[in-house]
Formats: sequence, C-alpha cells, structure tokens
Amino acid sequence: MRLAGIELGGTKCIVVLGDGQRIAERVILPTLAPEETLGAALDTIARWHAEAPIEAIGLASFGPVRVNREAPDYGTILNTPKPGWSGARVLDMVLARFACPVGIDTDVNGAALAEYAHGAGQGCSSMVYLTIGTGLGGGVLVDGRPVHGSLHPEIGHVRLRRAEGDSFAGACPFHGDCIEGLIAGPALIARLPVAPGDLAPEAPEWDAVGHDLAELLAHLMLTLSPQRIIIGGGVANRQPHLLDRARKLVPELLAGYLGPPSALGLEEAICPPALGDDAGPVGALVLAARALG
Ligand code: ZN
Repeated sequence: MRLAGIELGGTKCIVVLGDGQRIAERVILPTLAPEETLGAALDTIARWHAEAPIEAIGLASFGPVRVNREAPDYGTILNTPKPGWSGARVLDMVLARFACPVGIDTDVNGAALAEYAHGAGQGCSSMVYLTIGTGLGGGVLVDGRPVHGSLHPEIGHVRLRRAEGDSFAGACPFHGDCIEGLIAGPALIARLPVAPGDLAPEAPEWDAVGHDLAELLAHLMLTLSPQRIIIGGGVANRQPHLLDRARKLVPELLAGYLGPPSALGLEEAICPPALGDDAGPVGALVLAARALG
C-alpha cells in the first residue's frame, strides 16, 4: 500500500508517506492559515503521487471537526479559537486535489487507531488515547471503532472534582477549570511557580496536577470501562512522573470500586504510547488504510 497521511495539529502539520504502519517520508509544516498549510501539505502529497500513485489519504485533524459522513458539513472544522480555521472545509480541500479515497477523523481517534493496530492498544478493543500537550484531547475506541456520536468525545473539557485546597482558576478560555484548563501546557505555565521543565519531579506543586490527572483517569475508567488508557503528548512525555503520581492515586479515588487494581495491572492499563510521537502521523496512515477498505 502506498498511502499518505496528514496529521493536522494546532501548531504543526505532519505530512507522511508510508504503508498503513510505517512512515517512509515525513514533512513538518507550521499550522498557519488553512489554504497555506493544507495547500503546502497537498503539494507535498502531489509530489509523492507524481513519483508513484498514492492509493488513499488519511486526514487526522484537530477538533472540533464534523466526522459524521451524513452531515452536510462533513469534514469541516467547527468553531475553534484558532484564527482562520472555523468553518474550514478541510476534507473538501483534499478531495478537490485528489480522486483517491480520503478518510478523516480526529487526530486523537487516529492516534487511538494507530496504537490499537500497531502499538500499546493491541488486543484492547475498548481503549482511550489521551494527549496532553498544548491542549488535552482524547480518542475513544469501542469494539475497535472510533466513537463519534453526535460530534465526537471532547474529553479535554470535562470538569472534575478539584484537589482539596487548590484554588487555581484554570486556563481554558471556554470553561476555566475543565481538565484541559488544569493540566495542559498553558495551564501548567499559569499554575506552577516556574516553567514546568524547571520544576523538580518531586516538587509538591505537582501534587494537584497529579491529582487532576488521576481524577480524569478514574472518570474514564468509570464511564467508558476502557481496557487501556494510553497517554501521550508533550506534557506527558516531558513529565513522566505525572503518570506515576496519577496511577498511585487512582485506587484511592475509586475507593475499592471496580475491584482492587493491582499495581502491575494499573501499569499495564494506564501507559504511554508504544508509537511515541508517531502515534499521530501513523494514525493518519491508518485512516488512509481504512478509507481504502
Ligand atoms: Zn474547556
């Protein structure tokens, strides 16, 4: 299979060539205006296509994005604070240039599919892929299929119980102290006394952050019953101690509910992505492979 994928992120856009699993070539572009960024991404794919035909293209996009095929605005980015992107018909822009099948889903659903097919989610038909970076997003697979529902899950914006004594107002422009507003990159910059990278992993200021992540994990375990929760993204990669902190707190938050989880069981059930930073771009290739059927 000769496939192309576009992982359209809030700050960068990764264009890849590969089969459904391995990346052969990649080009990284900054996310500017839609015509500029997607135009350059499609130029890149056109160049690969001229060398040998591309069979399908996968588009893994930041959200909110309409992924319901029946909707008149299928493949359109919905209301987003990113300048110029609200209403961008990203799928149509790809279809206008290429006649091959094109698959689209959220970036996190794509990453979830990639981990399910080739990474830490293998054998887990119900799983969640979380990314904690500039924002917080979550892709959900049930029976191996991405959950869409009326739009798609927006896990980053749930509001959860706060740590005792924590009065940080939160950094989400919509909700203040939703989970993205508490533990994504901009929130950490706002709530920690120094830059996150300069704060020692054992510093007590991390306690509330670890608590907030644990609340999210417990919430997901109770609502979705995933066999695995995979946590990637810049914040999770650079602060691996957060995962350890959160894992330790989860049993206490569940208070014996869901049975007594063993430490080893939790290590397995809540883990980093096996594909690392490539979960996103490989996800775009998996969406292309799925579009081929
Ligand atoms: Zn929010």
